[in-house]
Amino acid sequence: MRERNGFIPKKYNQYSQHLQDKFGCKVYKITLDAGFDCPNRDGRISSGGCIFCEEGGSFSRAHCNSLSIQQQVETGVEKLKSRFKAQKFISYFQAYSNTYAPVERLKNIYDEALLHKDVIGLSIGTRPDCVDIEKINLISSYTNSHYVWVEYGLQTIHNKTLNHINRGHSYEDFLHAVNLTKNKGINICAHVIIGLPGESRKDILETAKALADLGINGVKIHLLCVLKNTKLEKMYLNNEFQLLSSEEYIDTVCDFLELLPPEVTIHRLAGNGLKRILVAPNWLCEKFKLLNAIDQELDKRSSFQGSKYIR
Ligand code: SF4
Repeated sequence: MRERNGFIPKKYNQYSQHLQDKFGCKVYKITLDAGFDCPNRDGRISSGGCIFCEEGGSFSRAHCNSLSIQQQVETGVEKLKSRFKAQKFISYFQAYSNTYAPVERLKNIYDEALLHKDVIGLSIGTRPDCVDIEKINLISSYTNSHYVWVEYGLQTIHNKTLNHINRGHSYEDFLHAVNLTKNKGINICAHVIIGLPGESRKDILETAKALADLGINGVKIHLLCVLKNTKLEKMYLNNEFQLLSSEEYIDTVCDFLELLPPEVTIHRLAGNGLKRILVAPNWLCEKFKLLNAIDQELDKRSSFQGSKYIR
């Protein structure tokens, strides 16, 4: 395989490479905290939250940022410029549900996140039941000037599992959100978790097949990991489910990639595990090793993203 910029190209449509190709420079996401909450934690849907959710609201730090959005952007830009020589940036609202507020407040927050001249995009992580047409129209209004994504936490298409993990929304809610968001100039990313309790490999691959047919633009794949002080930790310590081994995960991720259309961007192939609160699996701490093993497995199979996708 030919090298590109000194790197062997991936056998999947890596989001970072997609950004580099699209904008002709290094583009990094700046993670911002606007102090949003989540209806699955504050009592509107439930007060328990998803069984894997830690204090920070889905794999991020708890609200601990006293800086304004503009200050967070400026700090992020400086840090990423000096650390990675990044040139352009996407303002990324990750933790909790970042459309869970009245539309006027959302507008003020998103406007502020886009003030910096080097910010070329906006990415908003949220639940599929936290959008409506008014909010989608607001987000769509940024697409003339910026590169815009909405990232929906889906996790799985199986309602039985969604109930089991206390997700508080259904697959149909996700489909409704995707329909609202489509054809509005907004890119759509779905977050999925591989290894959820009670799911077989067949169940997981059914999620891949369903996403493949939806015409979405990106997928972020997480490995189920057990974090401290979560319901999942109690279930894990009570032996109520088994985590996947690294070999099983690598195999399943490759199967998953093979079923997705080649043009879908892959935003991640495993979470970061947040070492300080990670209970298991330990092998997630060696993320580079894991990503290399996925590359090697695709090589071994002479396979690639979309190799089993049928249009
Ligand atoms: S939707 Fe996200 S923030 Fe809300 S409870 Fe679930 S993981 Fe936590």
